Amino acid sequence: QPIHAPDNLKPLLEDILQQAMSVNDGKVADYIPALAEVKADYCALTVATLDGNVTSVGDTNKPFSIQSISKIYGLMLAMERLGDPLWERVQMEPSGQPFNSIVQLEWEKGIPRNPMINAGAILVSDVLVSHYSASKSALLSMVRGLCGSEAVCVDSRVHESEREHGARNAALAYLMKSFSNIESEVEEVLDHYFWQCALTMNTEQLASSLAFLANRGQCPRSGKQITSHRDAQRINALMSTSGMYDQSGQFAFTVGLPAKSGVGGGIIAIVPDYGVISAWSPPLNSFGNSARGMFMVRELANRLGLSVY
Ligand code: GLN
Repeated sequence: QPIHAPDNLKPLLEDILQQAMSVNDGKVADYIPALAEVKADYCALTVATLDGNVTSVGDTNKPFSIQSISKIYGLMLAMERLGDPLWERVQMEPSGQPFNSIVQLEWEKGIPRNPMINAGAILVSDVLVSHYSASKSALLSMVRGLCGSEAVCVDSRVHESEREHGARNAALAYLMKSFSNIESEVEEVLDHYFWQCALTMNTEQLASSLAFLANRGQCPRSGKQITSHRDAQRINALMSTSGMYDQSGQFAFTVGLPAKSGVGGGIIAIVPDYGVISAWSPPLNSFGNSARGMFMVRELANRLGLSVY
C-alpha cells in the first residue's frame, strides 16, 4: 500500500534526532584504536526517497567507517559473479549468534550461516579475490558508481588496525580453509575483507548508493538496472533475517524493515518502493548495533508506519 509520509520530512527527522541524543546506553567500538577515538556524540539521520529527495539532519556530511554495511556491496558483486553456486558455500539462515562467532562454523563444516556475519563476509571476500584480478578496485568503483561520487574512499589507518587486531577473523578464515571452503590465500582474503570494512562514507552517500534495493534493483537516479529484481529481493531477505545479527528477530518485530548495521555505528534500512533510511551514531549496544541508530530507525518506521509486514 502507498506510504503516507509528509513531503517535508525535516521537522520529523529533527525531532527524532533530538530525542535520540538522550539515548546514552551505548559504548563506542574499542577493538581498534581508530574506531575508539571517534566522538560518541556524532549523530546523523538521512532519508533518501525514490523521487530523488534526500533529507538529512545532524552530522550527515561526516564520513565514518561503514564496517559491516560493506557486506552488502561485497555480496552484490559475488552474487553477480558466481550466481547460484554461491549458495553451496554460504547458507541463508539466521545465526542467532554474535557477528564474529566461530562455534557454528565448526558444527556446519566450514559453511557460514549467512553472508551478513563475519564468516559469511570472509567467504564472500574469497569469492571476490578468486574471481577478480583486482577485487578492491572492482568493489570501490562499484560503490563510487552507486553513490554517483568519487569521494568515497578507504581509511588506511582503519584498514591497518583491522589487520593488526584481526586474529578472530583470521581464525574464521583458516577454519573455513581447513574445510576447503576458501580457495585463495587466507592472507589475501582477509586483506580484502579488512579493506572493505574500512570504507568510509556518510549517511547521504550510503542512502543514495542503496536506493536500488528499494526500487526492484534499479537505480532511481540513473535508471540503470544494478541487480535483477530477484537479487534485490534476495539481498533484502537476507538483511531482514540476518542484517542486525542476533538482534535481527527483535528488529523485524519492532521495526519490520530489511536493515544492516556496522560497528562504526551506521545502520541502513530499506523501505521497498519508498526509499532508504540511514542512521549513524558511534555508541553500540551489546549486539554491536548503534544504540541511537536503532532508536532513530525504529522511531521513524513506527511514526510513518513503514513495516514491510
Ligand atoms: N571489522 C569488523 C570485524 O570484522 C566488522 C564487524 C561489524 O561491523 N559488525 O569484526
